[in-house]
Amino acid sequence: MTKIKLLDSNTINKIAAGEVVERPASVVKELVENSIDAGANRIEIEIQNGGKALIRVTDDGSGMTREDAALAVRRHATSKLSSVADLTNISTLGFRGEALPTIAAVSKFILQTRRVEDELGTKLTIDGGKLSDVHEVGCKVGTTILVEDLFFNTPARLKFLKATPTEANKINDFVVKLAISRPEVAFRFVNGNRVALATPGNGNVLDTLSAIYGTELTDSLLTLQSDMESLNLRGYVTKPNILKSYRSWQTFVVNGRVVENRTIAKALDEAYKSLIPKTGFPFAFVKIDLPQDSIDVNVHPQKIEIKFEDEGRIFKAIYHAVREAVEGKRETSEHDLTEVAAAPETPHFEQINLGDDFSEDDPPQNFEPPKKSEPPKKSEPPKKSEPPKKSEPPKKSEPPKKSEPPKKPALELEPIGQVARCYIVAQSGNDLYLIDQHAAHERILFDKLSGYAERIPAQGLLIHRVLQFDSQESELIEKNLSVFADLGFTMEPSGANEFRLMEVPADASDTDAENLLRGIITEIFNGVNSADDLAKNIRQAVLATTACKAAIKAGQELNQRQMEILLDDLSKTPHPHTCPHGRPTIIKFSAADLAKMFKRT
Ligand code: ADP
Ligand code: MG
Repeated sequence: MTKIKLLDSNTINKIAAGEVVERPASVVKELVENSIDAGANRIEIEIQNGGKALIRVTDDGSGMTREDAALAVRRHATSKLSSVADLTNISTLGFRGEALPTIAAVSKFILQTRRVEDELGTKLTIDGGKLSDVHEVGCKVGTTILVEDLFFNTPARLKFLKATPTEANKINDFVVKLAISRPEVAFRFVNGNRVALATPGNGNVLDTLSAIYGTELTDSLLTLQSDMESLNLRGYVTKPNILKSYRSWQTFVVNGRVVENRTIAKALDEAYKSLIPKTGFPFAFVKIDLPQDSIDVNVHPQKIEIKFEDEGRIFKAIYHAVREAVEGKRETSEHDLTEVAAAPETPHFEQINLGDDFSEDDPPQNFEPPKKSEPPKKSEPPKKSEPPKKSEPPKKSEPPKKSEPPKKPALELEPIGQVARCYIVAQSGNDLYLIDQHAAHERILFDKLSGYAERIPAQGLLIHRVLQFDSQESELIEKNLSVFADLGFTMEPSGANEFRLMEVPADASDTDAENLLRGIITEIFNGVNSADDLAKNIRQAVLATTACKAAIKAGQELNQRQMEILLDDLSKTPHPHTCPHGRPTIIKFSAADLAKMFKRT
């Protein structure tokens, strides 16, 4: 007696549903990607009950004929792939031809579609995989797919679904990413009866991001750009001070496809880690275009994860682009995401980079810009007594570049004076520098504090401060007294919602202790997202707030010696070019920049 049975196609579809359709968000993803593939300009997504009760996706794309609609709900029917050879060259989002039949197998499914050239459209009703009705209907051009009671006939899957808000959030996260990946498509997402998202569809990425996250975020964005042979990187990141404890506000798009990829995520993490102790994830939109045959999208049934042929190259491209953006080498701008943005016309004053790549992008400049009309050496009057040959300097000393060691040591900034009691004017060689005294000191303190591996050295307050907090704050402090103590804040409970502050970090001992601690508590509550990252958050808040509050303020007069010390300390920190909030600390004007400003060239 044979034990092996062939499965009927409906069963196969139900099994496959576990791979392609894991939850309502995967249904939304498949349907929206189909709409994008169909060339839609407008896509509307509506859900009820986190998509468990209802998902409706409406587009104004190409639509289908009656025959195509019937085929579309059959397994491995796809208009996007005709041979195995095509698998290495996939440019549409869908290609396996399994989404519609698998979704239809586990839901009450209605597809309604019309092409512009057809007078009437087609309506197709499928219940748990069984076609129950096909007929002609009058409808708008495009396609609407309605998915009700997802997993009604697969109770095991149904049980596995999470509460409505969780499922709705997962859908929202994905719709956001899809909308960012296609700024030329107007997305509308209605959750319950609330419009959760509406993008303009005008092709402008910054407008799209503003519509989703608000202008506060877009105002703080830095531009990513890198062009290499057959690799084009575009995108935006936030300054390192804007972090969240989850990765969902990072959108990666590779060749037009929203993807997940560890290499991209890791490159972002590493780039930020080098600038600020890691306590979260920055916002990021990373768009990569590269030859389709150097990626593999077929590794995951939901086509979410992709593999790059050369992961190392991707890592480097992102890492350097982020560092460049954060270090202020690029101005934030809307860029054409497919082409290289035009170079800005005005001279762009770069922040200096005192790190190891300083010598690379900063070749020594002559103070006097070379004038083409004057031959540089011959204009000097030759001395008659000397034979002409000797007036030529020996070859060795002639190009100063070659006689210099390949790597410059850290820059020595020599203070000239202070402007507006806020900026230090300094020089180094022939270059002029402006340094923000508060931002610079903040960076020095921050790096110093974060450098203490164990305990931050504390100094006792001469007069202990007794501070009142509200009950929420008190609970937080009470539970984390030892965390605070390690960070230099020694406290003990001294009454109901009351603490005695006895020690503060030595570097902040002159600071208004009460103000400092309250600033830290506020920071902690602002940044905290889950109990897990509380300790990290406290640390982060202590470092940033202490550095900020203990740093020299704008308005404080500095003498020559104080400026010297500050600049010396600054040049020794590993990240002198930005303050812990990501703002620039140093602006450099090279001799060439000055020459340009005075129109000497
Ligand atoms: P795939 O996208 O992998 O080809 P699907 O099962 O998602 O497979 O879709 C099957 C086919 O149905 C697609 O190849 C496409 O021709 C057609 N189709 C699906 N959704 C739409 C839509 N919204 N507009 C036009 N055609 C669609
Ligand atoms: Mg598809």
